[in-house]
Amino acid sequence: MIPVSKALKIIERETQSLSVERVALEDSIGRILAEDIIADSDLPPFDRSQMDGYAVRAADTKNVPVTLKLVGESAAGRGWRGKLKSGEAVRIMTGASVPAGADSVQKLEVAREKGDTVTLLEPTELGRFIVPKGKEVKRGSVVLRHGEPITASNISIPAAFGYAKVKAAKRPRVAIISTGSEIVEIGKKPGRDQIRNSNSLMLKALCEQAGAIATVYKNIGDDISDLKSQISNAVRKADILITTGGVSVGKYDLTKLALKELGAEIYFERVALKPGKPTVFGRLKKSLVFGLPGNPVSAAVTFYLFVRNSMLLMQRSTCPALSSGDAIALGSFSATKEREAYLPGKLVTDDEARLTVQPLDYHGSSDFVAFAEADALVKVPKNSRIDQGEKASIVFLF
Ligand code: AMP
Ligand code: MG
Repeated sequence: MIPVSKALKIIERETQSLSVERVALEDSIGRILAEDIIADSDLPPFDRSQMDGYAVRAADTKNVPVTLKLVGESAAGRGWRGKLKSGEAVRIMTGASVPAGADSVQKLEVAREKGDTVTLLEPTELGRFIVPKGKEVKRGSVVLRHGEPITASNISIPAAFGYAKVKAAKRPRVAIISTGSEIVEIGKKPGRDQIRNSNSLMLKALCEQAGAIATVYKNIGDDISDLKSQISNAVRKADILITTGGVSVGKYDLTKLALKELGAEIYFERVALKPGKPTVFGRLKKSLVFGLPGNPVSAAVTFYLFVRNSMLLMQRSTCPALSSGDAIALGSFSATKEREAYLPGKLVTDDEARLTVQPLDYHGSSDFVAFAEADALVKVPKNSRIDQGEKASIVFLF
């Protein structure tokens, strides 16, 4: 049995990055950037008005009301090209460039226009309502780094600096195989002693969240030759194979045996982790193989800790681990004597604005209905316990 930290090191050692391709920016959400995004211009590219109003010289507005001569108009996309002199004003719109000679903008609401003059009712000050050229971003600076994902909140950055295409690592191709003679497909009514396959679609969704392209294969019963033929078929087109079930010590737990008989190299097969002890990691031909436990919560936790990491490393992510933090425990969380625990919890902000984590009322690692409420995992070192009111280390599941 190896600790989680060791397992992660082995995964990191064995994971190779995929090659890079160019992707249309509009199709790039969720992809990991393989290049730095560099500003090709200052932002704003000119002194920009933040208001609809009048560009003036601040010194002219010391004593109000003051009437100034209206000499032109600067609209967004169509600036006024003259040079403003003392005693003059230019009508200006939000997003328009501030003309030379002006050093301030006064807003429309406190001005009265009449013929070719405008009367300002309130003074303004130097630089008011102007964002100077280059104030937000300097040309040539790195505005988004390689190794970071493109998201809804940052896609405007490559868009604004002209990256119609971006370089991104290829998406890992993943094959998902569930195993177990008791498993039936979702559209079927389970017979006696049977349950529906809930793991495969959960894993497919988790893979897609991590940027991979996942294919779900037909469930395989606990039969060594069926397992072997399905596995060898699936790895032909996969960077990663994920199986669920059949990795513990029961008579019909045959996944490991199938992998070994196919010639897979196994790097580890037991992790000091709860849930998720029988997790298998190895390589078969060119594919990395993760043999996850069949219990849905164990499969989810080991995906979050191990598979996700590997997928993000393949995509050259610079932050492959889930983000972590601290929260006050609202109940107790226990590890076992020999295994570190990652236990599901729900995050809540308490009355004093502290982040707290509530243990889920869950019935062990088969309880995927309770697990669906989890938004964090509480990390408990082996042979220890976190009691109510104590600080807990957590990883965020989002
Ligand atoms: P195993 O790891 O094969 O011993 O399975 C452990 C538990 O997980 C058993 O109760 C299985 O019925 C259940 N299980 C295995 N595969 C799946 C699946 N694809 N969907 C839901 N539950 C599963
Ligand atoms: Mg099984």
